[in-house]
Amino acid sequence: MTRLPFLTPGEEKEYLASCGVRPLNHRVAVLRYLVENPVHPSAEEIYEGLKNHMSSISKTTVYNVLNLLSDKNAIKRITIDKHELRYDANTQEHIHFLCTSCKSVEDLHHVAFPSVEIGEEYEIEEVDIEIKGLCPSCAQKKRANNWRYRP
Ligand SMILES: [Zn+2]
Ligand SMILES: [Zn+2]
Repeated sequence: MTRLPFLTPGEEKEYLASCGVRPLNHRVAVLRYLVENPVHPSAEEIYEGLKNHMSSISKTTVYNVLNLLSDKNAIKRITIDKHELRYDANTQEHIHFLCTSCKSVEDLHHVAFPSVEIGEEYEIEEVDIEIKGLCPSCAQKKRANNWRYRP
């Protein structure tokens, strides 16, 4: 089955089943939210985004679903932000950039994911590349401020 991010609406149930997850409504809704909002939202943000459309969903349910889907590798936990976990429906290797000013987490799709050689005696399960700094818009604001206040 095609992996995310190539999942199109309507394929969520089949995708979850292929990950060994029973495609119950709340699970499908959380996965669909992540696919439609590829901004690496936190559990809180996902709950806020879903509660108006799904009165039956609770914060606890969202946390439980996120844990289940992450444990089954249907989605990915992103630990780049020390203050809260973020979630990603894109489970393919890609580089993350955290803006330390506006806290946005974006995918650096224009940068190739490097291959890492650590020796055949190791079995690599996961390679994460996380870069922190200022996003283009925050960097531009900082440059503008520096220019304005320069003595
Ligand atoms: Zn920013
Ligand atoms: Zn990502």
